[in-house]
Amino acid sequence: MTTVQAALAANQDEEERELGELAPAPVPADGTPAETESPAKRAAKALDAHFERVANSSSGGHTTDWNRASGLGDLCDRKLTYQRVIAPRQGWVTPWLQQIFSDGNDQERYWQRVLLEAGFKLDQTQQRLEWPAKRIRGHIDGVVTLPDDTSCVYEHKRLDANAWRGINRWQDFLRNDIYRHYPAQLGIYLLLYGKPNGLFCITAQGHYKWLDFSLDDPEALDYVEQAIQQAERVNTAIECGTLPNRLLDPSPCARCRYADVCLPDVVATEVDGVELIENETLERLLSQREINEAGHRAYVKADKTAKAILSGKPRAQCADWTISGKEVISRRVNTKAMPDDLRERYEVEGKSWRTTIKRTPK
Ligand code: SF4
Repeated sequence: MTTVQAALAANQDEEERELGELAPAPVPADGTPAETESPAKRAAKALDAHFERVANSSSGGHTTDWNRASGLGDLCDRKLTYQRVIAPRQGWVTPWLQQIFSDGNDQERYWQRVLLEAGFKLDQTQQRLEWPAKRIRGHIDGVVTLPDDTSCVYEHKRLDANAWRGINRWQDFLRNDIYRHYPAQLGIYLLLYGKPNGLFCITAQGHYKWLDFSLDDPEALDYVEQAIQQAERVNTAIECGTLPNRLLDPSPCARCRYADVCLPDVVATEVDGVELIENETLERLLSQREINEAGHRAYVKADKTAKAILSGKPRAQCADWTISGKEVISRRVNTKAMPDDLRERYEVEGKSWRTTIKRTPK
């Protein structure tokens, strides 16, 4: 058992109690609001509960006979094989993922409107394209027709803001392990739709760029051919009941959702310096932490601003709140005012551990 696992096991009861405290309070079955809570607070709690329900109710997926065009171009053949033979478990759509999906759909509709308002024709939206011989399937975002009657296949992609800044031509996608399959996807759509030209609309936090992608470019065509060969390798592995090799450089494995089946011997140990931890309590804590983050930030900001307004008032009443305050005198050593040589004499080295937690980009 690793140190982390031991610590988690020892603190499990405490964490469960904390979780209970942090979890959104249930909305009364008869819809009667708790008297002491504001409508906004109750609305926030109900929304948290709604997202939790969505996450818990998402049905499991199913195995598929098709390679998703949107996945080809990935670094790992083995992952693409797992995507076909392992059904996603029930509840795999987390509240966070659900919001990403919804936001992506909203943005896609917005940019479709922009194209129409700009005078273009947009059709074939979400049309399914299939290549049975290669077992490749996908859905295009649409075909844009210009006033001169020329057209191109359109694909909207919402990116992380940092990645978005670094992507200015289609080749830049290839330098990013997470987005490198996008040109393969659009290229396959172009082949299947019989058009040489594609148009990416890439967006991030209100910013946008248009990138063109053409199969007339030999470099682009070569990349798409490699993606098709990848589909063929996956098909062969499935027909033969084998699995493609694991990645030689396992750095992407830390964010792979098949790591637990692919790397059972190293899960909960280490992959390229990254400890992979399987612990449902920790997963729940991280999820609760994320769900409550915005509320916590709003609380801290409101608390600070309200206390600034109330500073110097010993007793006050505002609506339902009773306020009291007093002057607190504290003494501290102003180390900044000390001469350097004196301060250095009293400086000691302290040790602490700083932990940063971020969502792994998908
Ligand atoms: S864990 Fe690594 S090697 Fe295994 S499927 Fe995922 S990315 Fe590929």
